[in-house]
Amino acid sequence: MLKGKTALVTGSTSGIGLGIAKALARQGANIVLNGFGDVEGPKAEVQALGARVAYHGADMSKPGEIEAMMKFAAAQFGRVDILVNNAGIQHVAPVEDFPPEKWDAIIAINLSSAFHASRLALPAMKAANWGRIINVASVHGLVASVQKSAYVAAKHGLVGLTKVTALENATTGVTCNAICPGWVLTPLVQKQVDAKAAANNWSNDEATKQLLGEKEPSLQFTTPEELGELAVFFCSPAANNVRGVAWNMDGGWAAQ
Ligand code: NAD
Repeated sequence: MLKGKTALVTGSTSGIGLGIAKALARQGANIVLNGFGDVEGPKAEVQALGARVAYHGADMSKPGEIEAMMKFAAAQFGRVDILVNNAGIQHVAPVEDFPPEKWDAIIAINLSSAFHASRLALPAMKAANWGRIINVASVHGLVASVQKSAYVAAKHGLVGLTKVTALENATTGVTCNAICPGWVLTPLVQKQVDAKAAANNWSNDEATKQLLGEKEPSLQFTTPEELGELAVFFCSPAANNVRGVAWNMDGGWAAQ
């Protein structure tokens, strides 16, 4: 379905981003990976699906590096047709104890990076009259939890940016939508399980059960594979008129 199209997925060396990159690769898209840590492993996983793969290590908190990444992607494959704004970090603390530098980093990586990548991707998408911008927000783009002020603010902002981008392009072939996962067992969430286990002297299993039980009625993690299939749907012709939605895949979290 996506043969000849190019997808750039930020923060795709791990977790949800890698799951989405693999799902788009299975549909035939060329993939531009981005993110920190091991690169060769994720690259090989995506290549094994038959995709042409490139990697750029831009730090998504730095607008100049985002610009270099967008130019690199266009030079590699001609144009970015699908932009998945996924890179994100977390920090938990009450507002009065929240380190200002963590606030700035979360707003930069989880929100401003999507603005920068989108503004740089849109001209070519509009010229081609086809494009997909998929913002990986969170159920925390729809509802709040304690100790996550920067994350909740950034994700609510990202849902807002999604709606504006969708509206500004509503008469074109360019759509913009958000994906709002509940708990997904990635390194980002394992850190929160570890903190819970340490604070309460619980085993990993007990802490995992408590984490799910507090918020997610299904008591199950959503998987990167399931989120990847939702991204594939947003890229399909059936989703041509799906514009500005914030689609939660959260085991019933936001329905409560
Ligand atoms: P993860 O830690 O597994 O992956 C994060 C990715 O972002 C990695 O590839 C990492 O290298 C990259 N990254 C981090 N900082 C970066 C930076 N400055 N520049 C470039 N890349 C950077 O986390 P994940 O759980 O897969 O999270 C992916 C997205 O999904 C995030 O936006 C997160 O907020 C969102 N999300 C996660 C969950 C969950 O339960 N895991 C739930 C809802 C939303």
